Amino acid sequence: MDLKSSHPYWPIKNGLVATYPPLENDEECDVLVLGGGITGAIFADRLTKEGFDVVVVDRRDIGHGSTSASTAMLQYEIDTHLIDLLDMIGPEQAERAYRLSVDSLATLAQLAAECPLDCGFTKKRSVYAASTEADVESLRREALARQRIGIEAEFVAGPEVRERYALPHPAAIVSAEAATADPYLFAHGLLKQAVRRGARVYDRTEATKFDPAFLGRHEIETDRGPKIRADDIVFATGYESQQYTGEKVCRFKSTYALVTQPLASVAPWNEHHLFWESARPYLYFRTTDDRRLVAGGADLDFRSALKRDALIERQTAHVFNGIKELFPQLAPEIEYAWAGTFAETKDGLAYIGRPAALPHAYFALGFGGNGITYSTIAADIVADQLKGRPNTDAEIFRFGR
Ligand SMILES: Cc1cc2nc3c(=O)[nH]c(=O)nc-3n(C[C@H](O)[C@H](O)[C@H](O)COP(=O)(O)OP(=O)(O)OC[C@H]3O[C@@H](n4cnc5c(N)ncnc54)[C@H](O)[C@@H]3O)c2cc1C
Repeated sequence: MDLKSSHPYWPIKNGLVATYPPLENDEECDVLVLGGGITGAIFADRLTKEGFDVVVVDRRDIGHGSTSASTAMLQYEIDTHLIDLLDMIGPEQAERAYRLSVDSLATLAQLAAECPLDCGFTKKRSVYAASTEADVESLRREALARQRIGIEAEFVAGPEVRERYALPHPAAIVSAEAATADPYLFAHGLLKQAVRRGARVYDRTEATKFDPAFLGRHEIETDRGPKIRADDIVFATGYESQQYTGEKVCRFKSTYALVTQPLASVAPWNEHHLFWESARPYLYFRTTDDRRLVAGGADLDFRSALKRDALIERQTAHVFNGIKELFPQLAPEIEYAWAGTFAETKDGLAYIGRPAALPHAYFALGFGGNGITYSTIAADIVADQLKGRPNTDAEIFRFGR
């Protein structure tokens, strides 16, 4: 699958951060992590901390999958409202999914603090705006449901939304927990850390054949010839994973993003908040530490990479117009625009663990708008499973649900 158009922002901004070799000789390890995006990097970091001998392999250059296209708004807020998730999967699991997502922000802050590269991790608040009057009542109930489980989420009515944020929306939920980061540097930094603990990272190496029967050790074939023997495999293969799971777990979307030139001034609230809204698809934006706006949205059903990329100009113009309507005084200019593919699940939750088709491999599929927070939840669950520790959260994100 072609995950994104050719010029997402982060690799342009950062250039070649590190070079990893392709696999030239057979390898052996405790755990093979397939995929060197932000998920694979979080796993490599976590599993080396746990004492596992880890090999990471990516068919592209490191960080050049969806991670390079991500706008990296780090949110506890799941695409499905808590009040809806309560009906879908029951209060115990729904509330736990939200609580885990809140906790994952603290984990990401900790990872960023330990990261040997400055990945621009910045703690923010989040404004989740009601797109129409019809959404106001559900946002009021949603804020209450979140407060009931201890989440700092304030319901703000229309006049105050205008006063505080100069936004025209009829209501908003303002949450204390959110953050932004540079996902590409974050992934490189975490891998650097893992390498210091003994991990070996190979890029431009595709794992081509797995043994689903698994008798003893995995022997994985690669397109370059050498094989990798591993006690366990973690698939951190992002949106290309469905071919391996044998289970249809998501719908693919094309999504569009842009970054503006640095702004002369940004409304003060804006530097400390990220924004998204209740419409589906939603418009969203955040700022960078050099005062650019990163914005996205205008999602369409995914048909092909060619069709997705042919619409970059049109769809990012929709996103840009949405921004200009909200901030007519800002006069931003687009510096880069790009498209990516992403995936939605029926309940907005990630898929984590072992699918029936590959019962001896672990998957970490953070599908949905908050994929990166799911990656840390996946690392916690799978690390426990690999260590043989009980983890009841695994049930929430299981395959076959
Ligand atoms: C435009 C856009 C905006 C987004 N905005 C946000 C956001 O604001 N917040 C958020 O949380 N999420 C966001 N996401 C989602 C987020 O980007 C993803 O959740 C995240 O990047 C997934 O990281 P990953 O490491 O799992 O996948 P990837 O970065 O795609 O990494 C998977 C890697 O696996 C490799 N791979 C696949 N198969 C093989 C194989 N057989 N052998 C070897 N390697 C293989 C691929 O080459 C790839 O590099 C956004 C996505 C897009 C496209």
